[in-house]
Amino acid sequence: MKKAKDILTSNNVVRAVLVLAVWLTLIAVALVVSRHVKDEVGSDSEYKSLVVVESGDTLSKLLLEQGFTNNDVLQIAKVLKSDADITSLRADNDKIEFVRSEETEPVSKIVIIPSPWRQVEVTCTENGEWQCKTVDIERDTRAVYKTGEILDGDSFYLAGMRAGIPAGILAEVYDLLAFEMDFERDVRAGQKFSVLYEENFSGGEKIDNGRVLAVEFEALRGNVKMYRFKKADGKTGYYDENGNGAIKSLKRTPINNAKVTSSFSNSRKHPVLGYTRAHKGVDFRASTGTPIPAAGAGRVVARSYNKGHGNYVKIRHNGSYETLYAHMSRFAKGVVVGTNVKQGQTIGYVGSTGLSTGPHLHYEIIKDGKHVNPLTVKLPAISNLGKEDKEKFLEYRKVLDEGMEQLSKHPDWFIQL
Ligand SMILES: [Zn+2]
Repeated sequence: MKKAKDILTSNNVVRAVLVLAVWLTLIAVALVVSRHVKDEVGSDSEYKSLVVVESGDTLSKLLLEQGFTNNDVLQIAKVLKSDADITSLRADNDKIEFVRSEETEPVSKIVIIPSPWRQVEVTCTENGEWQCKTVDIERDTRAVYKTGEILDGDSFYLAGMRAGIPAGILAEVYDLLAFEMDFERDVRAGQKFSVLYEENFSGGEKIDNGRVLAVEFEALRGNVKMYRFKKADGKTGYYDENGNGAIKSLKRTPINNAKVTSSFSNSRKHPVLGYTRAHKGVDFRASTGTPIPAAGAGRVVARSYNKGHGNYVKIRHNGSYETLYAHMSRFAKGVVVGTNVKQGQTIGYVGSTGLSTGPHLHYEIIKDGKHVNPLTVKLPAISNLGKEDKEKFLEYRKVLDEGMEQLSKHPDWFIQL
């Protein structure tokens, strides 16, 4: 990988990207304390042992195993709760390092590692009191750019994997694009896409991926572009190239990756009834038990059964929209009439109840009491930018576009954030 310095010296615009990106997209960098995990490892004056927390492990069990007294265990648990807000350990996630001056000496320091970016150190003072402090690990964040193309018989997911986009980032991109695109009908061979996202490094080693900063997809109905942007009030969101909110109040396809098996139509031959009848929604194929997320935030106004829809849920959203989800095998726990649900919250599970030939989700959007085509209806954005934010956004977008232009010519470069 070529260092961003090369980009910076070769192009002033990218320097602006860097500065703006730091200002606008990053948070909490100032909180980072300069410290590397690696610096401690390899120091030969200390003896260290690392324990990965397993299911069934508790702090007291692990401490007692290391030779702590019951009194010490109580004191340590107390400071961890009050100073680091740690009350329990997470199996297969948290690690604990025990440090001794010699292998046979008692533990002088406990380091709890709940994430690659945070460590909690517990030490004993000379007068025998336990104290703890939290250490943030220095994070070196780089923006990398990947481009891909849909090939014949491809899915967006396969093309994305081939482009080297990590699965987690791809899932996020999928979620973002699902507001704008219908992956069944809008994805064709020859279409290109690109993603700018963060990679986090520590001590020169890649630790994890960060956030998606920008996405572009050449869709059939025009290019879809989205940029992550931080507003003056500190809130971040995704916006299209004109600064309009890219996150819509409703999703066209509630279940990611589900194929459309029957589209919205005012007349179609009903597969069970046999005669021609309007199909007031879209059918998505999915296996029984697949969670059905709410397409948008709202209030459950129906959770019921009828012959046609089988088990169904209807949600009223802000404004004039309602959505309906039919043929569920079962409802999600706690989802009853009157429940407020969040966008993406599971409301039930795919099934084949009612007039249905196989497991699928039948999804309807009702606007002002009238059924509309979920795949084509123009949906309102959750939030647009105010005047000042918008001006800043347009500036930011321009430098980001120019930065991506540079990165597209030099795929091994990255932007140091
Ligand atoms: Zn249907």
